[in-house]
Order: sequence, then C-alpha cells, then structure tokens
Amino acid sequence: MKIAIVTNESPESTKVGEALKQKLIEEAFILTLTNPDVVVTVGGDGTLLNAFHSYVDQLESVRFVGVHTGHLGFYTDWRDYELDELVKSLKEDTSESVSYPLLEIELSYSDSDETKKCLALNEATVKNLDKTMVAEVYIKDELFEMFRGDGLSVSTPTGSTAYSKSLGGAVLHPRVNAIQLNEVASINNRVYRSLGSPMIIAQDEWIRLDLKRGDNYQLHIDHFVMNQENLSSVRLQLSEKRIQFASYRHTHFWRRVNDAFIGELRRKD
Ligand code: NAD
Repeated sequence: MKIAIVTNESPESTKVGEALKQKLIEEAFILTLTNPDVVVTVGGDGTLLNAFHSYVDQLESVRFVGVHTGHLGFYTDWRDYELDELVKSLKEDTSESVSYPLLEIELSYSDSDETKKCLALNEATVKNLDKTMVAEVYIKDELFEMFRGDGLSVSTPTGSTAYSKSLGGAVLHPRVNAIQLNEVASINNRVYRSLGSPMIIAQDEWIRLDLKRGDNYQLHIDHFVMNQENLSSVRLQLSEKRIQFASYRHTHFWRRVNDAFIGELRRKD
C-alpha cells in the first residue's frame, strides 16, 4: 500500500508525522506523495482541507485518514498518541471506506465565454469587496429572490459545522445528500427582501447566483480566498464526486457535534 503523509507547519504536526513515517517504514509501507492509496493528514481540519485540494484530481483512488494533534476535528478521527493502532489498521486494511458529499462550483465571467469548475469540501462563499452585494438567486433556473447584503455561502453537509454554522445554518448529517445556502448579513427592510433563513437544497437541484453589481468579488473556497474580477455568475450543486475516508473506526456524527460544540452535560437536579 502506498501512503502519503501530509503535515502542516507546526512543530507537533512535523514531530508526529516523522514518528508515523518511521513506524510505516518499519512495516514496509511505501511512502510517497505521488499517486498514494491512502493520504494520512497530521494536524487539524485545516490540514485535511489542504490535503483534499492537493489530491482533488485523484478522489476516486485516494482514501483519507485524519490524525489530529489538538482537539477532535470533524475530519480527523485519530489522536496523535494512537499511531500504533493506526499502523495496525493500515496493515489490516480491507479497502473499506465511508464517503461524504462535495460541492461543485462553476464560475462564469463577463469578459469570457469559458467557465471554471472546482470542488469544495466545506463551502463556497461569494462576497463583494467594494459595495453591497446584489445577486439574483435562482433555484433550478427559476428566480427565487434578489439578495442584498455582504455575501452568500453554500456548504456541504460536512461543511455545515464550519462557516455555515456561524452563519446560523443547520447542522446536517453527512448522509443527507443536500447543500445549504446561507446569507451573510442580508439587508432586509421595506425595500429589500430575501428569505433570511438557511435553505437546504436537494441533490437534483442547483443554485445560481447572478451577480448584479460591480466586478470586484471575493470567492472563498474552503480555506482559499481568491479575488475575482468580472465574475458574473456562480452555479452550485452537489457534485457526483465524493471524498472517501478509510473506515477503520467510526465516530458517531452527533457525538462529534456534541464534543465540538457542547461538551459534557452538567445535570441540574
Ligand atoms: P482554519 O483552518 O483556521 O479553521 C477555522 C476553524 O474551523 C478551525 O477550528 C477548524 O477546526 C474548523 N473547521 C474547519 N472545517 C470544519 C468542519 N467541517 N466542521 C467544523 N469545524 C471545522 O480556517 P481557514 O483556513 O480560514 O478556513 C477553513 C475553514 O474554516 C473554512 O472552510 C470555513 O468553514 C471555516 N471558517 C469559519 C469561520 C467562521 O466560523 N466564522 C471563518 C473562517 C473560516
């Protein structure tokens, strides 16, 4: 089995990555960053997001495993002191995986006929840098509303616990094949009106944002931020591609949500 180890720049991540490397070499695994079968990330959710984008063209053949050096993350199931157990699981690997939905983003520009496509694991957010963002929001090519505000964000189910949650979105179980649209500081008064609540869009539907004002937009895709001149339209839909995680262990999704956001309950009698 070919394994890629992806670390971040922190000393803990580098140290744990090195320790894992030694253990895998002792067990005769092939360590390579090129065409791996399994990508093991050592760090947090950000490290996994980074690795996802590095291997986004190999999603059919790559499975991911996340080791975290801090708190339990949403994409990281293993603690840094569990390396021996992880190596054992890799040795006993049966190629089983669990997969999660991804968001497909298609970008159109006013000065070009070409479109660009990309994938997000957490979300895509469009913001206007200069003025209030004005966008026609289409659902399945039917005009739904005219949005005015700071921006609009569309997340995957696994991204629903990230930026989407801070925007007031619902937490979606990753088995739900849907995307979620969230407003960023919408203007709602007697003149301007948008729904004002998060919307969950089904797998066979898509969202199109036709941008109406200015040409200085910022596009956030997961941890990447890109300035976009002449961006005119953004189409967002659940992708046919999915990310696969090696299913050596299963952390119950709602337990993970509880651990991350609530913690131990203190009962009051
Ligand atoms: P980062 O890597 O510093 O991550 C910010 C926090 O988001 C970290 O605590 C990370 O563990 C957490 N996170 C990432 N993905 C998550 C997920 N799917 N569920 C729950 N928590 C998750 O920040 P960055 O590099 O700027 O961006 C990475 C991600 O961070 C973005 O995709 C976005 O979702 C999120 N983010 C959130 C906010 C916010 O909540 N206001 C702001 C910026 C970025």
